[in-house]
Amino acid sequence: MFEKYMLVDLFSGSYNEENIGHEILNDQKNPITGKYYGYLPPHDNPNILKLGAKSTDDFIDDILVVFVRKIYDISIDRRIIGFYPSTRIYKKAQSGEELSRDFKDKDGSIRTASYSMESTEYYPVSSEFSLVIETQKYNSYMFRKQRVYGGKYPELDSIIYNYVKRLINGEDLEDDIISQQELQEISGASEQAIQNAPKRKILFENRTSGKKVLRNPQLTKSAIIAADYKCEGNASHKTFVNKHGKSYMEGHHLIPCTLKNAKDIWEQFGRNIDCKENIVSLCPICHRAVHVGNQDEKRRVLSILISKRLPDLQEIGINVTAEYIFHLYGV
Ligand SMILES: [Zn+2]
Ligand SMILES: [Zn+2]
Repeated sequence: MFEKYMLVDLFSGSYNEENIGHEILNDQKNPITGKYYGYLPPHDNPNILKLGAKSTDDFIDDILVVFVRKIYDISIDRRIIGFYPSTRIYKKAQSGEELSRDFKDKDGSIRTASYSMESTEYYPVSSEFSLVIETQKYNSYMFRKQRVYGGKYPELDSIIYNYVKRLINGEDLEDDIISQQELQEISGASEQAIQNAPKRKILFENRTSGKKVLRNPQLTKSAIIAADYKCEGNASHKTFVNKHGKSYMEGHHLIPCTLKNAKDIWEQFGRNIDCKENIVSLCPICHRAVHVGNQDEKRRVLSILISKRLPDLQEIGINVTAEYIFHLYGV
């Protein structure tokens, strides 16, 4: 998914009194083009050769850019505050005059922010989901130049990649215990809502952990009701009785409800994966197994679920194969 990345240290420089300069616009979607343009402190002009560019290139594409800041003023550690998943990085600072990137400098004068990074997406990360980079584990002075090119610290590379992948895939939210608890309390969706669900436009919400696909929990509840509160991995699996007198079951989207999957299926089939046909009712053990089981275990449970749901998915126009679904789980 990512081949190269760069860490960019913000809010720790001294370009002006507020310690904020051109980078103040890094997380703002540009109103003219709808893209994000990032200033790279302290003075743009990254060494794109370190990111895999050739010396004749003016820019390089598909770079993960991760923004960090000090966890508190005197700390040398940094925490991640957001990232551009796929960035074009220019060798030379771009002026940005035509993009209305004006900001007020410390003397009150209006200046135009330059940039050397361009991205269609930005994922903000709130502090509770933030990852802390312990600089002394690598090099206490690693952020001295406010930019760290990936590839220097292999352990850090895999930590960063895994962290970003997890946020993009929304794994932390998908099976959030709170949403499973809420599920016990609500009723199912109306027949009308169930029928309309596959064709409704995908909507997004900004959660503390980042941008997510907006889901209707009533559809999940409908899937559990349709399964008669039984585990679709194996109907004989027993859980416990909840306070409404029903067996506790959890909802799981067979094609996981991640940004990427939702967009892919929408583009290919014009269907929303937050629909009853794509949701299975599972006991907590089977549910954990499809997420964290080994290859054999995942395949075993998924085979059962796919044989049940693939015809339903195809019926509503989501013409995927069993292999496609296995692939989404890495098996
Ligand atoms: Zn799940
Ligand atoms: Zn089960």
